[in-house]
Amino acid sequence: MQRPLASSYPSLQLVYQNVSGMQTQTQMQTQLYSQLSPSLASLSLQSQPPDALRVINLLQERSLLPPGSVPPPVPCLPQDLQKLSCSPEVFRCTLTSIPQTQSLLNKAKLPLGLLLHPFKDLSQLPVVTSSNIVRCRSCRTYINPFVTFLDARRWKCNLCHRVNDVPEEFMYNPVSRSYGAPHKRPEVQNATIEFIAPSEYMLRPPQPAAYLFVLDVSHNAVETGYLDVFCQTLLESLDSLPGDARMKIGFVTFDSTIHFYNLQEGLSQPQMLIVSDIDDVFLPTPDSLLVNLSESKELVQDLLASLPQMFGQTMETQSALGPALQAAFKLLSPTGGRMTVFQTQLPTIGIGALKPREEPSQRANAKDVQHLSPVTDFYKKLALDCSGHHVAVDLFLLSAQYSDLSSLGCISRYSAGSVYFYPSYHKQRSPPQTERLQKDLKRYLTRKIGFEAVMRIRCTKGLSIHTFHGNFFVRSTDLLSLANVNPDAGFGVQMSIEENLLDLQTVSFQAALLYTSSKGERRIRVHTLCLPVVTSLSDIFAGADVQAITALLASMAVDRCVTASLSDARDALINAAIDTLASYRSSVLTVPQPGLLTPACLRLLPLYILALLKHKAFRTSGGRLDERVFAMFQLKQQPLAFLLMMVHPDLYRVDQLTDEGALNINDRMIPQPRALQLSVEKLSRDAAFLMDCGTVMYLWVGRNCSPVFLTQVLGADSYADVPLNMIQLPELDTAQSSQLRAFVDWLRERRPFHAILHVIRDESPLKAEFMQNMIEDLSESALSYYEFLLHLQQQISK
Ligand SMILES: [Zn+2]
Repeated sequence: MQRPLASSYPSLQLVYQNVSGMQTQTQMQTQLYSQLSPSLASLSLQSQPPDALRVINLLQERSLLPPGSVPPPVPCLPQDLQKLSCSPEVFRCTLTSIPQTQSLLNKAKLPLGLLLHPFKDLSQLPVVTSSNIVRCRSCRTYINPFVTFLDARRWKCNLCHRVNDVPEEFMYNPVSRSYGAPHKRPEVQNATIEFIAPSEYMLRPPQPAAYLFVLDVSHNAVETGYLDVFCQTLLESLDSLPGDARMKIGFVTFDSTIHFYNLQEGLSQPQMLIVSDIDDVFLPTPDSLLVNLSESKELVQDLLASLPQMFGQTMETQSALGPALQAAFKLLSPTGGRMTVFQTQLPTIGIGALKPREEPSQRANAKDVQHLSPVTDFYKKLALDCSGHHVAVDLFLLSAQYSDLSSLGCISRYSAGSVYFYPSYHKQRSPPQTERLQKDLKRYLTRKIGFEAVMRIRCTKGLSIHTFHGNFFVRSTDLLSLANVNPDAGFGVQMSIEENLLDLQTVSFQAALLYTSSKGERRIRVHTLCLPVVTSLSDIFAGADVQAITALLASMAVDRCVTASLSDARDALINAAIDTLASYRSSVLTVPQPGLLTPACLRLLPLYILALLKHKAFRTSGGRLDERVFAMFQLKQQPLAFLLMMVHPDLYRVDQLTDEGALNINDRMIPQPRALQLSVEKLSRDAAFLMDCGTVMYLWVGRNCSPVFLTQVLGADSYADVPLNMIQLPELDTAQSSQLRAFVDWLRERRPFHAILHVIRDESPLKAEFMQNMIEDLSESALSYYEFLLHLQQQISK
C-alpha cells in the first residue's frame, strides 16, 4: 500500500497503527477521536435542561412570548457532537430527543418529523472536490461528522452501522495538507458540506441554464399592466440571471392562440409566429425559439422593450393556458429548465379550461369549504411530464377574479416549482402589489438555482419516512425528484419508528441534494443531523421543538383539508393540543396540580395552534377561495422561519424606539423592540405599533399618538393628516424616522420575499385586516386565547 506522505507524520501514524493493540495508547486515542466516539454516559443527566420541563400553568401565566425570537432547542448531545450540529435554520426535527420506540412516540402524542431548508443561501459553505466521494457501501450514506472511526482505516456508518474501509485518498487532508488524520477531513468536520461530483453522478452532460417565460396577454392581462413590470425587471436583470455562456432563454405569449418568438441570432428583429390550432400545438421552428442569451441578447432586449405595447389594443378575452403550457413543455423538454408562467384569469379555452367553482355564499361564514381539491388532473399530469424532463413550472397568478388556484397550482406543486399570488393586481390601482411584484421578481430572477435535482433523505435504521410535504415529485420512498431547486423552498417529512432503536445513543438524518449548478457543475449538498435517543416520556417532552411541531402540524392539516375536510383539519389541530397536554399531564407530571399545565418548552403550542386555526388557510369565516388555497400553498412551501411569521405575526411598539439593546450592523443601529402578544390589550391610543405578518406589515397609529411621532416619522401635521393609503415611510431627516426605517429595512432584509407596508389609522379600510391578526382576542366566529385554553382544559379533564 502506498503512503506517499506518511513519513512526514510518524507520530500520528504510530498512534493509528497501535490503536487496536496497545493499552497505553488509550488516552491519546481518546483525545484524537474525542469528537468521533462520544462518551454518552452522562447523557441522561444532561438531557433535561431544567427550564424545558419547568411546569407552567397556562391559565395563570399570561406573558409567554419571549422578548425576541423563539430560540430553537439545542439537542442534548455531548459538547463535542453539539459543536458539529447542523444549523437549525437548515435542518431540524420536531423532537430533538428521539423516542426509542414507536409506542413511546405514540404515548407522547407529538408528531415526529423533519423540517428542511436544504438550498438556503449560506454565508459559509465548505466545498470539496474529490474524485472518490466516501459513502457507506451498504446504505450509501455520505461520510459525516457523526460516523465512528474504529481506527484510522475503518469507519462505522451511523445510519446502518456497517463498517467501511477508509480509502487511501481520504487519509490526505486537503485543508491542512497533511496525511493520516481522516477524522480531520472537512467531510467529518462539517454537518453541511457540498461536493463537486464526478461523472458517475450524471446521467447526461450537465444541462445549461434554460429559462422560458410564458405570458398571458389576454385583454384582462393587458389591463392589469403586469407586462410593464415583468419586462422592465427582466431587462434590468438580464445580466444577473444565473448561468454561463450556454444560458438559453425563450418567450411564449398566449390568448386564444399561442405566440412563439423567433429570436435566432442574425435576425434584425424578433419574429412572432402564431399557432392558432390550440388542439394540436406544434413548434413552428423548434431551434430558434429557445436561444442562447448572449448570442441573441439584442433581440431579447428588443422583444422585452416592445412586449408591453404589442397587445395594447387587444380584444382577445380568451385564455388558452393549457395549450400554451403544452407548447412550452415541448419547447423546454429537450434540455429541462425553468418555466415561468404569468396568468391573470381562469383558463377559458382548450385543454385545461376551468369553470368558476367558488360559491359566493361560502365567503360569509361556512363550517366547511368546498373545492379545496383540484377539479381536473390535467395540471398535475402535465407537471409530472415536466418533472420527468427536468422542467419546473413557477406560477405567478395575478387575478382579481376566482381562478381556481387549487387546480392551477398543481402545475408547480408536482414539478418542484413555486406559486406566487398577487390578488387583484393592478399596476395603477394597487401600487403596493406592483412594488411587491417588482421586488419578488428581482429576487426570483437573480437568486441561485439548481437544475435536474434529486434529494434523498436517509435516516438511521429503524426510522422510516412515510409522508413528504413541499413541492416535488416523489420518485421512490426516500427520493424526491426536483426539476429545479431554489434557495427559498422549504420541505417537511413525517417519520415513524419501525424498529426499536435499542442500544443506540444517537440517530442521524442525512439529506443529500444532487443538482446541476447554473455554471454546469454537478454538485451534491449534504446536511447531516444527529440527535440523541431517549427512553422516557419526560425526555421526549424536554426536547420538543414547538415551532417545528407547529410547522409540521400545519402541513399535515393542509393535507387533511384536501383528503377530508376543513372541519376535520381544524379538529385534528385542536386534538393535537389536547392529546399532547393530556399525555403530559398523565404520564410526565408526578405531582397532580390544578390548572392547564404544560412544560415550558411547549408553552406556546396552544397559542400557535390557535393562530393556525385563525390563519387564512384554516379560519372558518370569510375569505376568497383562491386566497385560502394560496395560504395553504405557503404553509407547504415556506421554510419554517417564514412560515412562523405568517402564522403568528410579530407585534412591536415603535413610537419609542431606543438604542438600548440595538444591533449594530454595518454602522447602522437597528433598534430591537420586544415582541408583544397579539391582543388589542397591548395596543394603546397614545402609541404606534408595527405588525410584521411576513408578506405584509402594518404600522398602526393610535388616535392620541404623540405629535412628535406624527411629524418626525410620518411627516403629518395631525392624526387626520395621515393619509388613508400610505404605503411608505417618508425619508425624514430625524432620529426617530431613521430609527424606524432602519428597523423596517432590517426586518425586510431578513426574508427572500417583499413585505408591503401599510400605515393605518382608525378610519383605515385595512384596519379590520390588522385586527384579524390579533389572534388572542375574541372574534365573531372564533374563540379568544383564554377561551381556547378553557376549552382545552375542559377536554383534558373529561
Ligand atoms: Zn450505512
